Amino acid sequence: MSAVQIRRRGLLLVFSSPSGAGKTTITRRLVERDPDLALSISVTTRPPRPGEVDGRDYWFISRQRFDEMVAGGELLEHALVFGNYYGTPRAPIDEALAAGRDIVGDLDWQGTQQLAAKVPDDLVAVFVLPPSFAALEQRLRVRAQDSDPVVAGRMAKSIEEISHWPEYDYVIVNDTIDAAVAKAHAIVTAERLRRVRQTGLAEFVEGLRSG
Ligand code: 5GP
Repeated sequence: MSAVQIRRRGLLLVFSSPSGAGKTTITRRLVERDPDLALSISVTTRPPRPGEVDGRDYWFISRQRFDEMVAGGELLEHALVFGNYYGTPRAPIDEALAAGRDIVGDLDWQGTQQLAAKVPDDLVAVFVLPPSFAALEQRLRVRAQDSDPVVAGRMAKSIEEISHWPEYDYVIVNDTIDAAVAKAHAIVTAERLRRVRQTGLAEFVEGLRSG
């Protein structure tokens, strides 16, 4: 018997965490193992870090282009984070949701609040906590792509970011990455099964009745 496909609306899965808590790794691993999940590539005015690739990690754009995108309504949300601007391009999200595909993004709490106001029915917001502050600082240092003052600044910001955890639907403590990815995958599976997202259910049940 072939797999039963029920038409559904896509979901917009958002991960937030203090930097270094592992949300980027979790989102990338989720996308690798799930062909129905696409990554939302944000725009940013921050310069690329070594190893970052335009169009894969971010779209690296000028401040002028960013302002144009905001003015033209091309961003679903945008925020100033650590002195740089970030935003989520609207078009890929609209297309994915309408086509019943899911999209995952990595945003700060400000972006998540904006999405909660704009697309409340499509949003599933997940907060990732580090197992400890020591682990968080260690991860920031191992990454070693930021200077000491930047690491210190990000640690201070982490405390502020963490204070927003009650605004999220789910919270994952990232003690081991494999377990965190498995938990994230469980969230995606459950959220896809929500009755309201399965827009083709009435049709499917009608088909069951008529044999
Ligand atoms: P980083 O510069 O370390 O890649 O990211 C810094 C922060 O910006 C992280 O908290 C990340 O989640 C957030 N961020 C990345 N992309 C976006 C975006 O499109 N919108 C918002 N609001 N925040 C973002």
